[in-house]
Amino acid sequence: MVSFALHGIGVSGGIAVGRAQLVSHATREVAHYTIRKDQVGPEIARFESAIRDVQRELEGLHSVLTSGDVPGEFGAFLDVHWMILNDPTLSEAPKRLIAEQQCNAEWALARQMGVLVEQFEQIEDPYLRERKADVVQVGERVLKRLMGRPGVLPPASAEEQTIVVAHDLSPADVIQFKHHHFAAFLTDLGGASSHTAIVARSLNVPAVVATHNARQLIRDGEMLIVDGTHHVVIVNPDRAVLAEYRLRQNEIELARQKLKRLRSKRAETLDGEHVELQANIELPDDIEQALANGAAGIGLFRSEFLFLNRQGLPSEDEQFEAYRKVAEGMQGKPVTIRTFDLGADKQPEEFDGLARVAPNPALGLRAVRFCLAEPRLFLTQLRAILRATHYGNVRILIPMLATTSEIDQTLALIARAKESLREQGVVFADDVKVGGMIEIPAAVLAIGAFLRKLDFLSIGTNDLIQYTLAVDRADEAVSHLYDPLHPAVLRLIGLAIGSATKAGVPIAVCGEMAGESHLTRLLLGLGLREFSMHPSQLLGVKQRVLKTNVEALAPLVERIRRADDPERLSALLEKLNA
Ligand code: PEP
Ligand code: MG
Repeated sequence: MVSFALHGIGVSGGIAVGRAQLVSHATREVAHYTIRKDQVGPEIARFESAIRDVQRELEGLHSVLTSGDVPGEFGAFLDVHWMILNDPTLSEAPKRLIAEQQCNAEWALARQMGVLVEQFEQIEDPYLRERKADVVQVGERVLKRLMGRPGVLPPASAEEQTIVVAHDLSPADVIQFKHHHFAAFLTDLGGASSHTAIVARSLNVPAVVATHNARQLIRDGEMLIVDGTHHVVIVNPDRAVLAEYRLRQNEIELARQKLKRLRSKRAETLDGEHVELQANIELPDDIEQALANGAAGIGLFRSEFLFLNRQGLPSEDEQFEAYRKVAEGMQGKPVTIRTFDLGADKQPEEFDGLARVAPNPALGLRAVRFCLAEPRLFLTQLRAILRATHYGNVRILIPMLATTSEIDQTLALIARAKESLREQGVVFADDVKVGGMIEIPAAVLAIGAFLRKLDFLSIGTNDLIQYTLAVDRADEAVSHLYDPLHPAVLRLIGLAIGSATKAGVPIAVCGEMAGESHLTRLLLGLGLREFSMHPSQLLGVKQRVLKTNVEALAPLVERIRRADDPERLSALLEKLNA
């Protein structure tokens, strides 16, 4: 077997050794795998649910297209799709295949589509023959639904570690891996700070993205080494290389064990500055890992993940239960719930196919903009969070604010949510703190209103970098330009921290920079005292804090603030970390 290496961007560090498991995501690559007998029922249910999703999607499109002045033939065209979708040859036959062949739903559907296309090609009437294109379009709609939810992922065997290899994965796909025990994953596409990368980090397994053609070059079952720290994947390693990596794996594990001793140690610098180290979570169950790593609170609960991988949107009660679980679980420690940041790369399936395709989603109706455009959804969430304030130390954080009017509108909606709860006699903490994320350069440059109107701030460096440098955080083609140490980025961070500190408004960093231990001293030097990061990064950052004398750093940090040559800046940073 030929041994070779692939390079990409390591978005989650560490080493994993295991067998490749190819996962399909694009319609072109339909995976074929066998499922166990007891998985047949759930697999058929998954297929039926995809069919229902597409029925709803077509109904939605139908009502959009038939209201207004869209030509009537569009409605008729959708009627044809509706008929094809509901014809048993498409909606029933694949179920028989799943049961008889014990295969996954995607493959069963793709096979049946092949059969239908062949039948259409035999038809003499050219008009009817052309309808095969409609069959393919409808089938692909269903396939897309199925692939958005990998569903029955092949089980990872206990003794052999499994490594997922995919062309691309959405944040929604990756969050599902929390329930499957994969040793690592790699993708052809992806940027360093994409939400996919962020979720990978939270899984605490090595991950390499932007490998370009891993999905094509790697075969199912091949032995892989994924070294997330060094951005490399080795396919079919020989014995010597394997032994070397096993050794390194042990060393990493030993270092991890050693760090555990710092869990309950107070985070304080050598010159006595207390530093608040909190955790970022995506789902309520993540608090276990946060507590195990000694988190002083939850600095960022990305609540939008409650909206992904599901049918319909979560009700107020369902959201409330999730928020209460976190509030109670953290036992009085602060819990910062960010209101949902949907849009761009995090699109709930409910909106998929119905939503207008934004020409530039990262600059479009995302986060608070989306919430303000859909006040009913926003109010539901606000009521759920407010109800949870009774069960712990809950704070509300608003993403992507840019203007005073957005702050005012949000505060007005919070007041309205409070009023409705009061009228119903529901208890909540009236003095709940409301904070804003600083993610857009405009928010830093016009920070006055933020300081006057909000109780606390949190810098989302992932987006702040994206919007300052005009670099899409999810696009590997420009990932070399995504630079947390760009002088403009450092100046904006320094300016935000300085202004907030002067005004006595607490400010944190909850973007990926907060968890990078080589940036801890720099951020401390810029005046930061609150950090929020993946639970797995907490102890490494704490170790750095414990070994730092902030006052002594000041002159060097000042030189870094003024440096505008990248090479000089990295040299100064190295000195700072020495
Ligand atoms: C950020 O932008 O830095 C942030 C923390 O939010 P998210 O990564 O979820 O956009
Ligand atoms: Mg953000």
